[in-house]
Amino acid sequence: MIDIGVNLSSKRFKGDVADVLTRAVDANVLQMVLTGTSVDESRAVLSICEEYSDQFPSMLFATCGIHPHDALSFNTQSLDALRELAQHPQMVAIGEAGLDFNRNLSPAAAQEACFEAQLELAAELQLPLFLHERDAAKRQLEILKSYRDEFNEAVIHCFTGDRKTLFSYLDMDLHIGITGWICDERRGQELQSLAKNIPLQRLMIETDAPYLLPRSIQPVPADRRNEPAFLSYVLAGIAAVRGETEQQIASATCANAQRFFNLPSPD
Ligand SMILES: [Zn+2]
Repeated sequence: MIDIGVNLSSKRFKGDVADVLTRAVDANVLQMVLTGTSVDESRAVLSICEEYSDQFPSMLFATCGIHPHDALSFNTQSLDALRELAQHPQMVAIGEAGLDFNRNLSPAAAQEACFEAQLELAAELQLPLFLHERDAAKRQLEILKSYRDEFNEAVIHCFTGDRKTLFSYLDMDLHIGITGWICDERRGQELQSLAKNIPLQRLMIETDAPYLLPRSIQPVPADRRNEPAFLSYVLAGIAAVRGETEQQIASATCANAQRFFNLPSPD
């Protein structure tokens, strides 16, 4: 399996990154893409990639970008910093980028400017995009449509939207990332009913660790921290609603992630 969304620079992983990676390998998570959410966090995830690449060869990759929550921090210097970070061989995508009108931690206009600059950067560098969207589908779709001829590939990570939004993203030939949200018997219901509509070659899986601990894990870990080793719960949650085997979904999502992020074969 490949976990395409891990926030490994979170302070909740401070002190036991090597153990987390070892448990991931034991749980058959052979590669992962660490999420950059600001210039500083993008640097932080890249330095984790570098620090552990001897011990875990061909396993760690990262994205560099600015999350909509951090859009107010965006300026021309941050764009130059992202452009430079993106040159690193372990940097495989631009993002996390997009719009979040749920918590509106940055004003909408700042979010849109930051998002569009990253779409342009991805187009310029011909790198895939790792996208976030929460309660902002209408505007996100409008912006993506106006750039669709320029950027190459994009994945909507942690998709939790409605049917119309899903089909609009698929119509634009985007990929869809599914997290442990699918394992939530309450707020995951809509996603459970929609997941079978995602073409297998458009699907990828992620934990979004340390967030979104799958509710199907029993007993619940005392610290409630999610980690890549729990990706199998996401896989099982998807298999349960799609009528395919876990093996089929694991191998398809692996191939998709390797092609999408242009990853080398795992060691
Ligand atoms: Zn996100």
